[in-house]
Amino acid sequence: MNTLKQIAAAVLLLSFVVFVALFGRLPALRKTPIGFLHRLLWIAIPAFFRQADVRLTGGRLGPALQRLGHYLMDENHPLVLIFFLTILFLSQLLFLRSAFFRVNLFHQVFAILVVILPYVFTFKSVTSRSSVITAETHQREMRRYPYDHVLYQPGKTCSTCRFLKPARSKHCSICNVCVAKHDHHCIWVMNCLGKGNYVYFLSLLASLGVMLSYGTYLAYILMTEILQADMLQEISGADPNVRWSAGKTWSEIFQSWGWAMAHEVYIGSTGMLAAMTAPLAWGLFLYHVYLVWAGMTTNESSKWADWREDIAYGLVFRAERSLDDLQRFPRIEPWLDWPIAITQQLVSTQDGQPPAIQRTGVAAQAARSSTIASSNGPRWKRVQSLQEVNNIYDLGVWNNFRDVLLA
Ligand SMILES: [Zn+2]
Ligand SMILES: [Zn+2]
Repeated sequence: MNTLKQIAAAVLLLSFVVFVALFGRLPALRKTPIGFLHRLLWIAIPAFFRQADVRLTGGRLGPALQRLGHYLMDENHPLVLIFFLTILFLSQLLFLRSAFFRVNLFHQVFAILVVILPYVFTFKSVTSRSSVITAETHQREMRRYPYDHVLYQPGKTCSTCRFLKPARSKHCSICNVCVAKHDHHCIWVMNCLGKGNYVYFLSLLASLGVMLSYGTYLAYILMTEILQADMLQEISGADPNVRWSAGKTWSEIFQSWGWAMAHEVYIGSTGMLAAMTAPLAWGLFLYHVYLVWAGMTTNESSKWADWREDIAYGLVFRAERSLDDLQRFPRIEPWLDWPIAITQQLVSTQDGQPPAIQRTGVAAQAARSSTIASSNGPRWKRVQSLQEVNNIYDLGVWNNFRDVLLA
């Protein structure tokens, strides 16, 4: 019984730490206890090691620890992937070894499929380079999405790759490439997820969710079978149609489960691990489904969170761009047939005063000749809420999912 509680507590704690480590960085959780714990995890623990080092060795380990930290955080190392694959493989092995020949053919076929799929999608997520922008694909990527003049401004060059940054792209300092429709760098699959391979990552999360839920279900079925058989053995002449738990108190049921777990250690422990980690896989999957539904990437969700904060402080102004602006620089901003007209222009100011914009050429002449389009004053309107700003990349649920699936 105590062992059961201890295992449950350990798995629960581990799941919680993984949850904090995975989700704590999300903008939506920035101001919650999860976000606070996440900062604690990345600041307090390294600080503790530094202090321990100073006290125990006089700081001699400092450079080595710094190198280790740099390696763990800024380099493309396989430690998380190895850890994940080891746990995955061992749990599957232990579970199937005890469970496989006790379920019917349908479950055997389904189990094989469910066991294999996470490896397939992990392999695809790790090896896919289809989101990387190269000299050959750069022109195509420049024409994939328009600049929204909020999250992405035209004319910015990547100093490493030495080309104009396409809208929605981002340079990853770990992979050292620019990535199309950059979502996030994933240390789990040692790769950046973007336009070409985000779909594999979503599939990986879904396949893990299915595997863990199905494993939980099978473990539950097999464990109740054992409990039922035990009841029939214990009580001679017991009605096989009566459930083993009938007439028992919660505490007795809990004790019976403890006994069954000890009796079937492999199915019990892997089943419990599956039950406790399934919500993590589904949680992460649903979060990404929400992002697709809302027409944004993880990278963009944090940019939107920054805008939301600036708007709350009254620092953000919006202006409509004139046609002159739209057609002036086709080289840095290719003209695109986009369903949503992009006339908005957002500026975040330091002092909360409407910005004065220096203009040149045709646009400046247009601004001088029209009081409405003058560079200062009425042209800029303070934004009160993020709802006044268009997310031009949100083309409706159907199109958003099509953009992800038809990568
Ligand atoms: Zn780059
Ligand atoms: Zn990367």
